[in-house]
Amino acid sequence: RAKENGRSCYAFYQSEMTDLVKRDAELAHLLGSAQIRQQLYVEYQPQYSCRTRALEGGEALLRWRHPEQKIISPQVFIAIAEKRGMIDDIGLWVAQQVCSDASRWFSNQLEFGRISFNLSPVQLRSEEGMKALLQQVGESKVPLSCFEIEITESAYMDASPQTLALLDSYVSEGMGLAIDDFGTGYSSLVALRKLSVSRLKIDQSFVKDMLLDPNEALIVSATVSLGHALGLNVVAEGVETEEQLEKLCSLGCDSAQGYYLNRPMSAECFESLLQQKKQ
Ligand code: C2E
Ligand code: MG
Ligand code: MG
Ligand code: MG
Repeated sequence: RAKENGRSCYAFYQSEMTDLVKRDAELAHLLGSAQIRQQLYVEYQPQYSCRTRALEGGEALLRWRHPEQKIISPQVFIAIAEKRGMIDDIGLWVAQQVCSDASRWFSNQLEFGRISFNLSPVQLRSEEGMKALLQQVGESKVPLSCFEIEITESAYMDASPQTLALLDSYVSEGMGLAIDDFGTGYSSLVALRKLSVSRLKIDQSFVKDMLLDPNEALIVSATVSLGHALGLNVVAEGVETEEQLEKLCSLGCDSAQGYYLNRPMSAECFESLLQQKKQ
């Protein structure tokens, strides 16, 4: 009996695996196709000051509107793009998009503060890819100080010394560098010592449990202290309630981002928000 069960479980597992592999292959094929450029777009999620609640900037988040499968999460398709060697192209496209949106806002005198975008660990391993991407950002009409790159602690660990030096040269000219999902990766503190980081992003998992679990609140509080001791700005991700925002403010966190404040939105909507702010 047990054996039978075992076998059927195994069979089920196998077919699930095959489905996943098939889906991966299909998505990879579509990602590599010519139409993909029309299906990708960037959304922006605003970031606010905890204390004044003024808009301080936004994070660019990549979206894929698949013709049949609605919207596919970047967590799914970025992993595929990384495995298939397509992430450098896609990442460069994101940077181009961000630069072109930011240039438009900048020439229209819309104050967007700072726009950040995410880099995959795989992008950080390619010196050529990083050169092209940073050059793109550097050649934009917008000052470097209006851009910020988000990398995870683990991405830092994988990067070559050449790439890190390259990144550092842009940071020393004013570009922001944030450690994303801070506290969830490996070797957080080494990254802080070796890189000229400007910002820590407290991972949303800590924010989520902060009001229920005193230990999580302590971690948030310690992260804020660490960040401030190092002269860094600290932003919390995944803020979903007023209570969380107030707690973060009382713990001294500088900025906040989350569904409670705004969901990620199209470039057009973000632009309207900037227009409203101007009035
Ligand atoms: P991330 O950089 O940590 O981005 C934050 C994620 O949290 C986003 O998910 C955002 O939509 C979501 N989020 C924001 N506020 C809330 C909230 O209040 N509650 C909850 N539950 N979630 C919230 P998204 O857009 O699905 O992106 C997932 C991850 O995919 C990102 O995590 C980032 O690692 C990656 N990603 C997104 N765009 C890009 C990109 O252009 N390039 C690369 N390499 N990675 C990207
Ligand atoms: Mg991010
Ligand atoms: Mg994050
Ligand atoms: Mg993340």
